This record gives sequence, structure tokens and C-alpha cells, in this order.
Amino acid sequence: MPRQTSRNSCGHRPAGWCRKKDGGDSRPCLPAAVITIRLTGIIVPALTLITIPLQSVTPEQLLKEADRCVKCGLCLPHCPTYRKLANEADSPRGRIALMQALASGELSPTPTLRLHLARCLNCRACETACPSGVSYGELIDAAHAMLQQSAGIKRPLRRALLNLLSERKLFGQTTRLLPLLSRAGVLRLIKKAPSKPLRQLADLASEMPVYQPPPSGLTPAVTAGGGSVQLFIGCISSQVDRPVIDATIRLLTHMGFAVNVPKQQVCCGALHRHNGFPQAADRLSKQNSGVFASPKPTALITLAEACHKELLEQTRSTPRLQTISAFLLNTPWPETFHFTPLKARVAVHRPCSASEDAPMTLLQRIPGLIPFLLPENTICCGGAGSYPLTQPALAQSLGEDKITLLKETKTDILVTSSTGCTLQFRSQIKRAGLDIEVLHPVELLTRQLDLNSKSDKLIFSL
Ligand code: SF4
Ligand code: SF4
Repeated sequence: MPRQTSRNSCGHRPAGWCRKKDGGDSRPCLPAAVITIRLTGIIVPALTLITIPLQSVTPEQLLKEADRCVKCGLCLPHCPTYRKLANEADSPRGRIALMQALASGELSPTPTLRLHLARCLNCRACETACPSGVSYGELIDAAHAMLQQSAGIKRPLRRALLNLLSERKLFGQTTRLLPLLSRAGVLRLIKKAPSKPLRQLADLASEMPVYQPPPSGLTPAVTAGGGSVQLFIGCISSQVDRPVIDATIRLLTHMGFAVNVPKQQVCCGALHRHNGFPQAADRLSKQNSGVFASPKPTALITLAEACHKELLEQTRSTPRLQTISAFLLNTPWPETFHFTPLKARVAVHRPCSASEDAPMTLLQRIPGLIPFLLPENTICCGGAGSYPLTQPALAQSLGEDKITLLKETKTDILVTSSTGCTLQFRSQIKRAGLDIEVLHPVELLTRQLDLNSKSDKLIFSL
């Protein structure tokens, strides 16, 4: 069947890209007007972040923490960028030295200094390896904030991009435009652009699922007895991981929980914090604490590890906050839940931001499944935040290493609990021409469960 191409009222294609002659007048056709309104809806909010003032970073605070680094170099073999580039300036120790020089005024924020700091994945593998307990994550965030301050308003595009990625409504409006841009050949053109980040952006855009408004409000429990929980759905993940959200709500409601997805929730702020906009991150955090305030000790459940880590650091750890995998592991399951066996080799990826291996334990419940930890899980896959856009060559190289491991381990399915890692693995697997599905653990669990049973009933001991 020939592929349909949309036309506007003028009969031109693609829709919305012409002006209709009407007598002596020229006026925009309806689709063009719709696009204009939509673009206005995107551009205006995207620019609002430019007006957000930057938090002043005290160089003294940065220097005090950096002084704890004794330059022993034990972190170097754990650093993905040092392993790739073998350059001291791309190691944790070298970056700390650069940050010290920046904060003390010995070095100015030159493009070279910026490059070495921008290459850091913020994976914090160095922090885990450091015997002196240096808070590298806090240091690099503070350094990025200093660099943003020194750049002033010279980097509006970066701010607009961050706003676009983190504002759920804005991101949704943009993804709604993607089919139009694709039909108009814009994405094809961008894929041929000389700029690698632009080409990468077009690649990611063509992988985006069809827009669906994120769920909000209360979904009642299917069975009685569990109480209620709150669900944090994030910003980009609410669009990219929509099947994960649906699977989670389905599973929890069948376990007897009413699931509340507050509509006013916003991005966790991790993207802003790691890109030098701590005040914007704090503003988002404040809004979320109001939205998720609850008089009852209801669990607040997260789906993506990076969001979880950011919320955990903001709240200074609360027992209410749990990843979906930890919650499922610690909650009794209905005795009527039965898994359909699945004969598959399932590699369990542990995102840099994860602190537990709950997914591995949960997946062992599926008969026939062979779950195993993906080797070299402590090395970042390159999908960290906006890294594939800002450092496409390094991101690609790190992604290719993971592809080698997937081939060696004869993986059928890869599970991961991070939106960035999911996008990175999917794009690398597609590029390598492999047939490996990438799923969130909850998607795989829900898929193998028969949730249509009418007699679900909770048991309170396992
Ligand atoms: S960050 Fe820690 S492990 Fe790395 S050089 Fe400094 S003290 Fe040593
Ligand atoms: S955060 Fe990761 S990439 Fe950055 S210096 Fe530490 S180990 Fe290297």
C-alpha cells in the first residue's frame, strides 16, 4: 500500500508549509497556523530559563572539598574517560586539579579546560573508588556552575535545550511535531548535517515513540488491601518510558495499591544540577516536595535510577522514597500471581546511579529465565544525561564496548532502570544490527505475569 502523505487545504504537501492564494490575499493555511501556535508554545517556554539567575558558587567551598584529594591516583583505572583517552586531564585527579586552578584563579575558563570538564560523565565511579572520600560529584557540579557563571548569558541554547528536555509539557509538544518534521524531510536533512551532535539529535528524535499524554491522577486498586502509593514519573522518561509507567501502574494496582500520579510534579532537577544550574534544580526540588508532601507514610516510588538518586540527595534519604524494584522486592505479592516461563538470557545492566541489585533478584522469580549481571557494570555506557549529544564520539565508543559484551554473553534481552541508558542501548543495538530487546525490569515482570485473574488476593508472608 503506498504511504500516505498529509496534504493541507491547498493540496500542497507536506501539510502546513505553504500559503494559500485567496483572491488578491495571501494567508496561511490552517496547518501552518497550527504549527505556528505549537512552535510559539515551544519557543516561549524554552526561553524562560534564560531569565533564571545563577546561584553563586563559592570558590572557597570548592577548594575546601578538593583539598581532600591526596592525588593518589587510585581512582584513575575506574574512570571511563581516562581509560579511553589516557590523558591525566580526563581523569578524576586531573579534573580536580583543573577545578582547583579554576577556583583559585590560576586558570581561566578556556575552551580546553571546559572540554576536559565537559567530558566527565558524572558517573561517580571515582567517588566509589576514592579512599579519601572525596565528594567528586559535588565538585564537578560546582565547577559546572562556576563555568556557567563565567559564561553569563552566552549559552542560551544550552539553557533552552535543558528547559526543553526537562519540561514535560514542552517536551511533549515538541515530540508531537516530530512526525511533521519527519514528513517534511527536516530530520533527514539534519541527519546529513556536518555537526555530529545535531546528527545525534536527529537519530534520537527518530527513535522517539508517538506522543501520548502522561497519566495523572489516581488509578484505583484492582484488588483490596494494599493502600496507596505515589508515583514519580520524571520529565523525559514520562514520554520515552511510557510503557514502563503503564506496566508499573498495572502491576501495582493488581497488587492492591491505588496509584497516585500527581499532575503538578516536575523534573527532579538532575539535568540542571549536573549542567551548572543549581538554582533551577533547587526550584524544581522545592516544587516537588510540595507536590509529594503526604500526611500518611505512603511510599513514593521512582522508576528511573538517576531521578531516584537526585530525589534521594535532595531529601537526605527518606524511607518513603523507593525505587520500583526495591518496593516490589520488599512487598508481599498476591499468591495468585503466576509467571509464564521464559527461556531467555537476560543481561541486567546496573546504571551508574543505582545502588542496589533488586532487579536481578526479582527477575530470578521468572521460571526458565537466565538473568546475569552484565560484565563491567561499573563502567558507564555513555548514555549519561545529555552526554550522547554533547560528547557523541566518546558516548559512541563507550556504547560500542557494551555491544561487544552483549555479543560475548549471547544476550537475548537487556534490562536497565535508566532512561538515558535505555536510549543509549537501543540506539547502539540498532546501529550494530542486533536483535536484543531493551526493557525496564518492571516491563519484563509484568509481561510474564498473568494479571487477568479475578481472584487476586494478598498474602502477607512470603
Ligand atoms: S579523588 Fe580520591 S582516589 Fe582520586 S586521586 Fe584524589 S584522593 Fe586519590
Ligand atoms: S565522574 Fe566518572 S567520568 Fe567523571 S571523573 Fe569520575 S569516573 Fe571519570
